[in-house]
Amino acid sequence: MRILLLGKNGQVGWELQRSLAPLGQVLALDAKSRDYCGDLNDLQGLAATVQRFAPEVIVNAAAYTAVDKAESEPDQALRINAEAPAVLATEARKLNALLLHYSTDYVFDGKGNAPWQESDPVGPLSVYGATKLQGEQAIQDAGCAHLILRTSWVYAARGNNFAKTMLRLAAERDSLNVIDDQFGAPTGADLLADVTAHAIRAARLNPQLHGIYHLAAAGETTWHRYARFVLEQAQAAGVVLKVPSAAVGAITTAAYPTPAKRPGNSRLNTQKLQNAFSLRLPDWQDGVARMLKEILEK
Ligand code: NDP
Repeated sequence: MRILLLGKNGQVGWELQRSLAPLGQVLALDAKSRDYCGDLNDLQGLAATVQRFAPEVIVNAAAYTAVDKAESEPDQALRINAEAPAVLATEARKLNALLLHYSTDYVFDGKGNAPWQESDPVGPLSVYGATKLQGEQAIQDAGCAHLILRTSWVYAARGNNFAKTMLRLAAERDSLNVIDDQFGAPTGADLLADVTAHAIRAARLNPQLHGIYHLAAAGETTWHRYARFVLEQAQAAGVVLKVPSAAVGAITTAAYPTPAKRPGNSRLNTQKLQNAFSLRLPDWQDGVARMLKEILEK
C-alpha cells in the first residue's frame, strides 16, 4: 500500500510515522519537504504531490492548530484547515484513494452534558472550530472515500501540550489556577495513530466503514482535574514542585478570558468507532500516566 502522510512532525504525525510503517510504503512530508511539496499553503503543489506519488491512502495530520491565533488569522486557518483538505479530497477522488483526516470537538457549541454523537448538530464557537468544520464538509462534498476522526485534547511525549505546561508552571510559580468547567478526555497521539492504522486496514477491506467517527480516550475530566492528575504522578515520581497537586486552584472559563471561545462540553461519544472497528478505547489516565513516565524518567 502506498501511503502519503502530511504533517509528519506534529504530535499525531510523528506517531503516525511509526504506526503506518507496517502498512506499506509511507511518503512522510512536512511544510519544508523538498522532493515533494508537503506545504498545505501551496494548493497546487499539494495536488501535484498527490498526482505524482499516486497514493492509495492519504493521511492528513497537518493542521492550523493555534486556536487563539486563528481568531486574528482566519484566512490562513481556512487555507490549511479547509482549502487544503478540499484539494486532497478532490485528488483522492480522482485516484480512488482513501483520505483519512482529523477533526475536533471544537466543531460543537459545547452545550449540555451528554457526550456528542457524530450525528449531533454542529455549532463552532471559534475560527479554528469553524475552519475545521469547513474542512470536514469539503471532504464529504468531494465524494472521495474518507475517514474523518474527530478527537479532543491531544497530548504526546513529543511537542508542547497542556500536561508539560502544568509541570513547568507548578515548578516555577507560587500558585496555579486551572479551568474546572470544561469537560473532555485527554487523548494520546499514540492512541490516535494506532487506531488510525487499524481503521485504514479495516476500511480498505470494507468500504462500508467509510465516514465520520469520534475518537477519544475513555472517561472524562476537566482541565483542573487533569492538571492535578499530572502533578500527582510527577510527585509520585519524585519531582519537586512549588505548587503541589492538592494546591492547584479551580477557576471558571469566565475567569480566564482567551481570544477564542472554548466549548464547555467536549465529551465525545465513541461508541460508533468502537463498534464499527471492534476496538476498545482505554481510560485517559492510562495514556497520560504512560506519557509522563516517558518524559519524567529521561
Ligand atoms: P500539531 O499542532 O502538533 O501538528 C500539526 C502539524 O501541522 C504541525 O507539524 C505543523 O507544522 C503542521 N502544519 C501547519 N501548517 C502547515 C502547512 N502549511 N503545511 C504543512 N504542515 C503544516 O497538531 P496535532 O498533531 O495535535 O493535531 C493533529 C490533528 O488533530 C489536527 O487535525 C488537529 O486539528 C486535530 N486535533 C487536535 C487537537 C489538539 O488538542 N491538539 C484536538 C482536536 C483535534 P509546524 O509545527 O511546523 O507549523
